[in-house]
Amino acid sequence: MKDSHGRTIDYLRISLTDRCNLRCIYCMPEEGVESLCHTDIMRLEEVLRAVRVAAGMGISRIRLTGGEPLVRKGVVDLIREINQVPGVESVALTTNGVLLPKMAAQLKEAGLSRVNISLDTLDPEQFRYVTRVGNVEDVIAGIQAALDYGFNPVKINAVVVRSLNQDVYEFAKMSVDRPLHMRFIEYMPVGDSAGYDGMGWGKQDVVPCEELIEIINARAISDGLGPLKPAGGHRPSGWGPARYYEFEGAKGTVGFISPLSRHFCSECNRLRLTADGKIRPCLFSDRELDLRGALRNGTDADIRAVFLEAIGIKPDDHHDKVGTERGMSKIGG
Ligand code: SAM
Ligand code: SF4
Repeated sequence: MKDSHGRTIDYLRISLTDRCNLRCIYCMPEEGVESLCHTDIMRLEEVLRAVRVAAGMGISRIRLTGGEPLVRKGVVDLIREINQVPGVESVALTTNGVLLPKMAAQLKEAGLSRVNISLDTLDPEQFRYVTRVGNVEDVIAGIQAALDYGFNPVKINAVVVRSLNQDVYEFAKMSVDRPLHMRFIEYMPVGDSAGYDGMGWGKQDVVPCEELIEIINARAISDGLGPLKPAGGHRPSGWGPARYYEFEGAKGTVGFISPLSRHFCSECNRLRLTADGKIRPCLFSDRELDLRGALRNGTDADIRAVFLEAIGIKPDDHHDKVGTERGMSKIGG
């Protein structure tokens, strides 16, 4: 499917829930989000129907996210079923990793192939500060479980925030001994109008990737590891706009995603579906279309019509608009 700006749209990110077992300070308030009521949230058979129709229109890649997708009951069976939908080539998951030690085996058996794990810092105290309730060891165990069960690629995503002053070199170094793809993502001030940006972070907290590369290289050179160079053979296959580098001899890579300092809207290939059944054509735009109504009361043609309208109104660029009504946990980051 091509949109009105000539981009191929073949990727759907689906939020399965707005609930989470963590409370990251940039994503949701301390008390958690006011949960969607039971009838608002898409039933799993509705999610599957949306995937079937979308796959018939050319969507071949599905990512499940949230909130924390692994807290949604029935997620393993859903993955199994999505995998069998004709036209779906790959199902991926974005998770905080906490439940992976318990669930990696079932997820693998259900046909999940790709896992992105979010981890902003390796420092236990800083991790607790960012997530409010989490233990970094749980995520480290989740990463090891993902490797042990053979997920490929395993990407680790860190949101970088200037005022947190994370140790980005320690993080990048995790790519040396294991086939991990460590990725830095610029903090995005979304959800600010919903009050989730309680830390007062703003555009000044976005650390451009060029600056990160300089910081990492300075430490890597003095450490004898040598600077990052553009990734060759280890570069993970991807559906997104990361730029990949690697240390000499490393098993994994270091990637950079810069939605703000370097717009990649011209390569945007995706639609988002929120847990309450709204299609968001653009992360940064609050314009949403109701798919749930069509899923509950309409025919497949009605569902197709909503997807087509969403693709038709996908903006060419976010034009520096970043604030949104919803926080990330309600959008499906
Ligand atoms: N709970 C899962 C997780 O943490 O991976 C999936 C949902 S979470 C909303 C998806 C990703 O969005 C995480 O990597 C998280 O760090 C990121 N995220 C949340 N709020 C963000 C923000 N304001 N800017 C950039 N990334 C954000
Ligand atoms: Fe939960 Fe992910 Fe949001 Fe953190 S970023 S609160 S883990 S949904």
